[in-house]
Amino acid sequence: MFEADTHDVLQRSFTGDLPSKERVAQAVAEAHARYAGHTDGAVADYIPILAEADPNWFGISLIDVFGGHYPAGDTELKFSIQSISKAFVFALVCESSGHAQLHQQIGVNNTGLPFNSVMAMELNNGSPMNSMVNAGALATTAMMPGESAAEQWENIRSGLSAFAGRQLELDGQVYRSEMATNTRNKAIARLLESYGRITRDPLEIVDIYTRQCSLSVTAHDLAVMGATLADGGVNPVTGEQVIGAETARDTLALMASCGLYERSGEWLFEISLPAKSGVAGGMVAISPGKGAVGLYSPPLDSAGNSVRSQRVCAYLSKALGLNLFASSAQVKGNNV
Ligand code: GLN
Repeated sequence: MFEADTHDVLQRSFTGDLPSKERVAQAVAEAHARYAGHTDGAVADYIPILAEADPNWFGISLIDVFGGHYPAGDTELKFSIQSISKAFVFALVCESSGHAQLHQQIGVNNTGLPFNSVMAMELNNGSPMNSMVNAGALATTAMMPGESAAEQWENIRSGLSAFAGRQLELDGQVYRSEMATNTRNKAIARLLESYGRITRDPLEIVDIYTRQCSLSVTAHDLAVMGATLADGGVNPVTGEQVIGAETARDTLALMASCGLYERSGEWLFEISLPAKSGVAGGMVAISPGKGAVGLYSPPLDSAGNSVRSQRVCAYLSKALGLNLFASSAQVKGNNV
């Protein structure tokens, strides 16, 4: 373990800047034009209502840490946030319970298995593994502050609304459609209970989790939420400090390693940004200190990640120099 022996070290940050406003606007518009005609992937149908989405819906919104806004396409269309909520609920719980508690109680390692895997838990002594997959997300939601399920839900809703900078509403149709069909999540919650990983009523936890997944957002909302993580926890549109800078950093680290489920390694290798996807076709990708991209395009790959959104992120990562790991050698003078 290499945690906890650096508390006395002053942290410095170097993240660089985005290119000019004109260049950012142009790159977002180019990305939309370039991928609008791509038709790969399939719209999710295991939650029946999601199958009604039009595969052509496509929006990209980039928000920088100064609140600058660069939209292209359907950035005001509403859809359910789904698994993207996991990253922001993690942030709220990490802020209230602390980094070490989450590390110990949930875990921060990738499963290498699909988001709704039961096997991942079985192979790891009942560990929920990480907050970005369903088992870990259910266990994280159970840790949300609140005296009752209703209070926990209200805290999630108001917390995610602070990230978005507006009051987010539940999409009742999505909630009911998922509650009628989510037997697997109920089984995962029961398994968590059997391993002593949750002590509350498992079905109550599934209900809160399904509500958080059914919050209605736009690509613009996702960009503002992501930009809050890019800006040390301060919402760059409202100016509110939603979480602390350390929690923002922890959240981004977990998104980088686990945000795209079993494709997270490939994602980091190709695109190199913390990100989170959801089965309704939403995605958020964050460039720390610079800004975030919120995306919406319903057709998914086999892991449940929006296909067009991934392509756009690959393009913008390159075109705008967002890749976390990129560097170029400093030009050194002769007498340095
Ligand atoms: N609510 C969905 C589920 O639990 C979220 C999954 C996802 O977006 N990958 O199945």
